[in-house]
Parts: sequence; C-alpha cells; structure tokens
Amino acid sequence: MEFKGFTTKLVHADRLLNQPQDGAVHQPSCNSVLFEYKRVEELVDIFQGRQAGHAYSRQSSGSIDALQNMLSHMEGGIGALTFASGMAAITTSLLSLLKQGDHLILSQFLFGNTNSFAHTLRGFGIEVSLVDVTDVTLVEAAIKPNTRAVYLETIANPVTQVADLAAIGALCAQKGILYMVDNTMTPAYLFDAKEVQASLLVGSLTKYIAGHGHVLGGAVIDTGLYDWTRFPNINPAYQSQPAHLWGLIQIKKKGLRDMGGCLTPQSAHAISVGMETLALRLARSCENAIKLANFLSNHEKVAKVYYPGLCDHPQHQLARQHFKHYGGIMSFDLKPGYDCFAFLNSLKLVLNATHLGDTRTLAIPVAHTIYYEMGAEQRSKMGISDNMIRLSLGIEDIDDIVDDFAKGLDAL
Ligand code: PLP
Repeated sequence: MEFKGFTTKLVHADRLLNQPQDGAVHQPSCNSVLFEYKRVEELVDIFQGRQAGHAYSRQSSGSIDALQNMLSHMEGGIGALTFASGMAAITTSLLSLLKQGDHLILSQFLFGNTNSFAHTLRGFGIEVSLVDVTDVTLVEAAIKPNTRAVYLETIANPVTQVADLAAIGALCAQKGILYMVDNTMTPAYLFDAKEVQASLLVGSLTKYIAGHGHVLGGAVIDTGLYDWTRFPNINPAYQSQPAHLWGLIQIKKKGLRDMGGCLTPQSAHAISVGMETLALRLARSCENAIKLANFLSNHEKVAKVYYPGLCDHPQHQLARQHFKHYGGIMSFDLKPGYDCFAFLNSLKLVLNATHLGDTRTLAIPVAHTIYYEMGAEQRSKMGISDNMIRLSLGIEDIDDIVDDFAKGLDAL
C-alpha cells in the first residue's frame, strides 16, 4: 500500500492488509479458541513452524493477526504482538527477554505501575538502575557489561519530562543494547520512533490508539532496527529462524504463549476500529492541550504548568525536535492554600478519572491517587506536590473546556 497520508493508510489498513472476506471493511472478531485441520499433518506442521496457521487462540488467531498487522504497518515495523493490556505487553516482554544477572536501565520517570514492576524484576535477580533519561550522559554512565536494555517513555507523566530520545538511541545502537521505548503518549502520528533508532516499541493500546475508554490492550512492535544477534538471551531453539525475527519469536513463545496475557478477539476488533481516527483525535487533543496550558499558565491561582509545548519547559526543544505536536497530557500545581479537591469537585465537564488518551477531558489529583503508594518522601523527590493535578485533554470544543476550568478556578 503506497498511500502517503497517515490517516489514509490507517482507514484502509484493515481492508487492504487483512483482506476480510465478502468485501467486509473490517476483519471480523472470530471467537473460536481452537482451529481444526482435516489432516493432522497440517496441525503438526503449524506446531513445528513449517506452515503458517493458527493452532490455539492464546497464541494467534485471524482477529489478532489483523490488529498486529495494522499496528506494525502504522509504526513502520517488521511485526507486532498484542496483549491483554499495556502492562501485560510491558511485563511479558521484559520477563521473556531478561534473565537473572542481567542489568536493565529504566527511566526514573516511569509510569507508576512499570516503576513498581521494577521491584518485581529485582526480586528475580535482575539488576535495575533508575536513571534521569533527559540526559544521555547519565544513561551512558549507568551502562555496565551486563546491561541488556534501556527502557524509557517518550513523554513521562505526570511531570512531562521528555527523554533524550535520539542521543540515547545512538548510544544503544553503538553499544548493541536493546532500546525499548514506551510510546503510549506519542503513537506514530506524533512521533517517528525509527528516527531515534528505537528497537522495540511497547505500551498501551487502551489510551490514544483505541481512544474511547472502551477497551484494554497493549502491544510490542519490533522496528526492525535492532540486530538480535547481539542479544545474548535468545533461546537456541529460535536461532534457526531469520535473526530479525528472534525478538518477537521469543516474546511470543516465552511470553504470550507461556504467560498467557493475550488480547481477546473482541478487544482487537474494538481497538482496530478506534485506531482509524487516531490522528484526528490526537491532533485535536494536542491543540486543546496547548490552548489550556496557555490559559492555566497565565492564571493567578496556578503555581506551575508542566507541558512540553510551553517555551519554559526544560525539554521544550527536544519535544519540538521529535514530536509533531506536544501531546495531550499536562499537569499543573494550584498555588498553596487552594484546595485541589474543591477545585476538582467543582468541574462540570471534566471527569475525575484515572485514565488518559480518551475523547473526554480527564483530571486526577496525582499525590492522592496514582502516586499515593510511593509515599510523601519519594513524591517530594520527584517534584510532585500535594496540589498537583494531571490532565488528559479530550476532543471536546476548547471553549467549553476553558470555561469549565475558569469557573472552577473562580470558585476557589
Ligand atoms: N504505559 C504508560 C505510559 C501508561 O500511561 C500506561 C497506563 O496509564 C500503561 C503503560 C499501562 O497501560 P494499560 O492501562 O493498558 O495496562
């Protein structure tokens, strides 16, 4: 398919890549768990990898293949695997690629659940260093002989730090280290992961990609840029296959098949329909975000706004360099003395909810919810005040959003 436009490609991807029967424009969701073969030799060939086909839907099915094709096509990858949630994609990939004695460099600004999972990895004998990934020299200083991967998020939340994406990519390429990038906040329309030499893209489909708060999912996409012969943990049984496929084969067999966190066919279908409008929704959310960020940063009751689109954001230049727009997520601190609960309770349009990347604008008090488990000391080290509110901008009309915030702030 040679269409140039991002949305043109996506809107026609299911129809053209997956070729559903009877002229259907969507690959239907197929509920069969098992697949019958009239001749048992065929089933054996599928098991032994001599023939393509489906044996059992925990590993693969037509509905799941269809979404994986669309995701890989969207990111310009060589293949994708999907999972029951973003966390299933992240944990399954790490657990199937790493082993005891390995060292992993993680961003110190990670999504809370991924950060919490780092403790689980330590329990399995995997060394983990948490590093400030806004500065490549700190990542370089953390590399050890047993470092197997660097893992970061493009734009972190809630404080919106932007990683030194291209410099870290160049460093990983030079050292032969796997570069895992969670691009939940900046799917392909906003960010070209191959330009920064990302090896594996991991993250949530629940957010911008599905987009409507109606389905959970996660994915791993191989960009094809990493030389898997430099990765020492590939099971010898998979090394008879072409080397560019080794990573996904290992994640599929050791992870998806053995750990079982598979996506349902119904969810795959819902995600594939949602993603057709990804660019339209993202563009609108980002446009709303920059307008609201400007409104909030000029408001007398607001102490600070964290948004990469603002000129005083510490990584504004990095964001400008790498992203088409500055994202739909921001946070802000109310000035001390103003009650963030009273403010949130007064909002009429904006929802108090823990999610992001939705069509609706969402707000959440960070210290009391998503960063509560971390404790006050760690929160203060991370610059998270008790009055910080995280926002995910939806696609509503901006005047309604600003009006809701203005009235809420006036009421304080
Ligand atoms: N990665 C990032 C950056 C996230 O923000 C989230 C969830 O908010 C996840 C991963 C996990 O995704 P899911 O909720 O689909 O498990």
